[in-house]
Amino acid sequence: MSSIIQPFNQDLYRKTEWDEPMFRLAQKQFLKAAENMDLDENIRDRLLYPQRSLTVSFPCRRDEYSEVETVFGYRVQHVLTMGPTKGGIRYHQDVNLGEVSALAMWMTWKCALMELPFGGAKGGVQIDPTTLSRSELQRLTRRYTMEIIDMIGPDRDIAAPDMGTDEQVMAWFMDTYSQQVGHAVPEIVTGKPVVLGGSLGRTEATGRGLVCLICEAAKHIGLDLKKSTAVVQGFGNVGSNAARFLAEKGVKIISVSDVSTGLHNAKGLDVNSLLAHVRQHGVLKGYSGADEISNNELLELKCDILAPCAMQNQITSKNAPNLKCRLLAEGANGPTTLEADQVLIDKEVFQLPDILGNAGGVIVSYFEWVQDTQNFTWSLEEINNRLHKIMIGAFQRTLVRSQRDKLDMRTAALIEGIQRVAKAKLMRGLFP
Ligand code: NAD
Repeated sequence: MSSIIQPFNQDLYRKTEWDEPMFRLAQKQFLKAAENMDLDENIRDRLLYPQRSLTVSFPCRRDEYSEVETVFGYRVQHVLTMGPTKGGIRYHQDVNLGEVSALAMWMTWKCALMELPFGGAKGGVQIDPTTLSRSELQRLTRRYTMEIIDMIGPDRDIAAPDMGTDEQVMAWFMDTYSQQVGHAVPEIVTGKPVVLGGSLGRTEATGRGLVCLICEAAKHIGLDLKKSTAVVQGFGNVGSNAARFLAEKGVKIISVSDVSTGLHNAKGLDVNSLLAHVRQHGVLKGYSGADEISNNELLELKCDILAPCAMQNQITSKNAPNLKCRLLAEGANGPTTLEADQVLIDKEVFQLPDILGNAGGVIVSYFEWVQDTQNFTWSLEEINNRLHKIMIGAFQRTLVRSQRDKLDMRTAALIEGIQRVAKAKLMRGLFP
């Protein structure tokens, strides 16, 4: 007896719970890469959506005891095939399910590109952490941890810092999880303080990794770093460390920015005094010795290296034609739209795409997890050497593929990652 099998919904762009511009961007980048490789169609469809996503709403008590606000939180695991999932936690007022899902998908490709034994995950809470007191931040973190506790675990899903969270938040996260299981579980989270089992070099790892690749890319395009200028958008963990390491390489930092303002000085900015100003005042605003400019003006400054290290969706079809850099080094996740990518390819701007450029963080997070699970610590020298080796290896593989298959660096990097995940999926087979 023959049966006619009706296909399920095969519209790759069908409306889903994850629908949001950033998730669409992640999907479009993935589909562009899929078109340029020999990807099994079933696997393509399977990888287009996260495997698990959790949305929670929970109460957060403000310091005025009678005030309780309801906030939304998320945890998304994109691919569970590669090992435990791994991904940061973002606190920002605009966080939503689609944004967290896009970040989880990029984590999958990033971990696979770096050959780490993780699938991608991400978490977030829709709140502006700068409006919270320290005790409010702690209560929020502990309650969020409890809300997602069934989904996480040192062998299941490991958290880390992202925008709006830091090592203190990771310490509260680890403490809450450990209280629930009855013993210390440092390996539930990475990017925590060294005294709790954090790794040396983790805080600055993303900025360090980005600058390590900028050095490689500079050699490739024939850029003399000692005669180069750089513009860095975002002066938090990633941006401030990238600026610091670039300055150490002899690059002149002519402009930096954060959410409060942009600063420009064609003669060069002193990164150490910028850092001291931010330590004292919290933001860049009020720094003397530079002209104020907007974040939009900053992106269009003439420079050799432009490093977006703040938010997504910064380089679009609108401003991409006005960019005047030779090298775009993406510290942030998703800073460039697909349309802008094409403009930059046409302008022959060399790109270090996010999943390659900012992978230093998850690499040292992996080292932290390995050290925690083995109860053994590595020296900073060993960590930095291993970080360097992994990043350069991924850069070389991406560059070779990009040149051989005549692909832009983003598509080449994505294919490197996707290919590894696809192979693993085929080897594991389908259940049931
Ligand atoms: P952070 O919270 O430490 O710093 C963010 C910085 O961006 C701050 O200086 C903030 O003022 C600035 N900012 C926020 N909104 C801005 C705006 N609209 N315009 C200009 N500046 C703005 O966050 P972070 O950890 O440095 O993360 C920055 C980016 O790097 C994010 O996209 C994040 O996903 C990505 N990233 C971070 C890590 C990590 O290890 N922390 C790893 C990989 C990728």
